[in-house]
Amino acid sequence: MTITVIGAGYVGLVTAVVFSELGNRVFCIDVNKERVSLLQGGKAPFYEPRLEELLQTNISKKKLVFTDSYEASVPKSQIVLVCVGTPPKDNGEADLSYLFSAVEETAKHLKAYTLIAIKSTIPVGFEDDLENRAKKFAKSKFEFASCPEFLREGSAIEDSFHPDRIVIGASSEKAQKTLLELHAPLSGERIICDSRSAQLIKYAANAMLAVKISFANAIADICERTGADVEKVLSGVGADKRIGRQFLYPGVGYGGSCLPKDVQAFIATARQFDYNFDFLRAVQEINEGQVKKFVNKIRTALSAREQEGKDLSGKKIAVLGLSFKPNTDDLRDAPSIKIITKLLEIGAQIQAYDPKAMKNAQRILPQKVKFCNDPYEAAKDVQAILLITEWDEFKEIDFEKLKKVVSSPILIDGRNIFDKVKLKKLGFTYIGVGR
Ligand code: NAD
Repeated sequence: MTITVIGAGYVGLVTAVVFSELGNRVFCIDVNKERVSLLQGGKAPFYEPRLEELLQTNISKKKLVFTDSYEASVPKSQIVLVCVGTPPKDNGEADLSYLFSAVEETAKHLKAYTLIAIKSTIPVGFEDDLENRAKKFAKSKFEFASCPEFLREGSAIEDSFHPDRIVIGASSEKAQKTLLELHAPLSGERIICDSRSAQLIKYAANAMLAVKISFANAIADICERTGADVEKVLSGVGADKRIGRQFLYPGVGYGGSCLPKDVQAFIATARQFDYNFDFLRAVQEINEGQVKKFVNKIRTALSAREQEGKDLSGKKIAVLGLSFKPNTDDLRDAPSIKIITKLLEIGAQIQAYDPKAMKNAQRILPQKVKFCNDPYEAAKDVQAILLITEWDEFKEIDFEKLKKVVSSPILIDGRNIFDKVKLKKLGFTYIGVGR
């Protein structure tokens, strides 16, 4: 098939690369000219395992073409997959302006029947709006479908080749058949439904992931108050097959470009349909409280008194891990940024290291943050080390070496990845979450 993917971001670029690798001819459009020329040269604009290798292979096989021109790609395509961003507006609703513009530009360039499948995460109830916008410009037949994306950054290529499910929200048999054919080489359960159900599957799935994380964080809090060990508690809970352990992990809270914004947008959508989603608001509140709790843990560990302005003045702190999760350089809504910003505000000096996200972090964080080349440089002369992102590299740290460079051996593990018994034996003060 010949397809056009609109938006060369985390979803669009991965989708374009994967469908070209599966033998389709793929055009990938982005309005960002700089990004397009970088991609034409075979360079990925962000880090994702295997992405650049597959990108280069398919460009050289001429299966994958990057362009900023709708005219050069849409008329040649049977399917257009819209993968533009849907960021949050100030009121929590999804900003659909990029989506509207992509749909209108597509409509202007249609030359024959084309299926426009929306992969971006959009709130339920916009079918008529999209249809009307497209009708204003389209001179040939078209149809909309909803095909939400579930890939996880950090394992996006792997997830795209082996999805758990493929959701196809389409009303006509023709549209369903076309999308089934496009996805035929991929594994995963097929869920065929109407577009509203497809959109709700995406929001409800992300909400459920957020629920699990906030639940784990609530249990961790109760463990800290009662003296129980959250890792044991959640292992016991998750061993029940009806519950499962995945995503039942406490920490510094969820972040990234999806969960926070989708939870917020889901609450806003529910409100528009007269449903008061207090349940999800509680999940959001727990998440937002995690950063504050973590900062208070640092204060307590460093014997600083809470609510005292610049109470961490003169304290040097190492931050290991900046990306919102491992194997990505994405810092959108990353807890690290909120934690570092707060620590700087109360006087701390920060020495940070991340295996992949340093360049992005340098653009976002103030210049006074010292960016280091490895965990040992970051830990030099510090009074505390914070583990924020659970990169594999940190699981290999030589703690004897680390202990020699710090000023005081306090380790605050925001993801519970370290062996607390081993660290205590080595002379570290170990502080985890809920243990
Ligand atoms: P992103 O911000 O990384 O990428 C969006 C891209 O679209 C940008 O490169 C931008 O320049 C381009 N763009 C914007 N308007 C355009 C237009 N009119 N024409 C062509 N290009 C245009 O976003 P993302 O993270 O890839 O997310 C895309 C959508 O997928 C969102 O709705 C998101 O919620 C959803 N989603 C994201 C993930 C994820 O892990 N990132 C996972 C599942 C679903």
